Amino acid sequence: MSILEIKDLHATVETPEGTKEILKGVNLTIRSGETHAIMGPNGSGKSTLAYAIAGHPKYEITSGEVLLDGEDLLEMSVDERARAGLFLAMQYPVEVPGVTVSNFLRTAKTAVSGEAPALRTWVKDVKGAMDNLRMDPAFAERNVNEGFSGGEKKRHEILQMELLKPSIAILDETDSGLDVDALRIVSEGVNRAKENTEVGVMLITHYTRILNYITPDFVHVFVDGRVAEEGGPELAERLENEGYDRFLAAAN
Ligand code: ADP
Ligand code: MG
Ligand code: MG
Repeated sequence: MSILEIKDLHATVETPEGTKEILKGVNLTIRSGETHAIMGPNGSGKSTLAYAIAGHPKYEITSGEVLLDGEDLLEMSVDERARAGLFLAMQYPVEVPGVTVSNFLRTAKTAVSGEAPALRTWVKDVKGAMDNLRMDPAFAERNVNEGFSGGEKKRHEILQMELLKPSIAILDETDSGLDVDALRIVSEGVNRAKENTEVGVMLITHYTRILNYITPDFVHVFVDGRVAEEGGPELAERLENEGYDRFLAAAN
């Protein structure tokens, strides 16, 4: 049982025009087994929230707290956060030149679990996870994200999640750029992880489409750097019909 608690989180970023506050008091709690959809318009700060929790150096936390199982996450290095059970699938995954998917996964698994995985079971686990995600075995020998299509990048993120078995996973626009088949395959991966490991999921998305495949327990409307409204799955349906205009008007 894990719990991620975000309390009145404020964060800024340096821009050419000066320091800009992006997160303006985020409150959110995610427990094992729960899926929270974070839905909001472009530029509302969703990715900033993901990066701030993951420890990206560009974003400065100016006040508030993030606790994972009661421990201060903001005091931890990025590696320590991963070892504590946090996983981030980025909206725009970065290339890792000269490092194959296979080596990357093994290094990441070793870093997260504190010891190298036993080779025989590991090879089997990787193969099984790749099969599930309908990934060509040859993919394992390619360099991370180098020339990957949008869909391949997203599958690779979910592959990492399935193998690293985090307690809390933040998935930032894992649905973007996927065709219907890829969306279904990626969603099945998330649902497998939910079933097998009880992972708590923060599912960041602009569109309701992925919520047809991954059922959220809670929906949070994210506008102008904070949660503007919360509800159950029915809130996503309202957003589908009404859009974000009402919330944007209220925020300005
Ligand atoms: P979302 O993911 O909801 O679309 P982002 O978190 O990416 O929103 O961005 C929120 C706001 O913060 C935007 O106005 C964006 O331009 C700004 N922003 C985010 N990161 C940076 C950065 N590194 N430098 C300058 N501005 C940034
Ligand atoms: Mg505040
Ligand atoms: Mg974003």
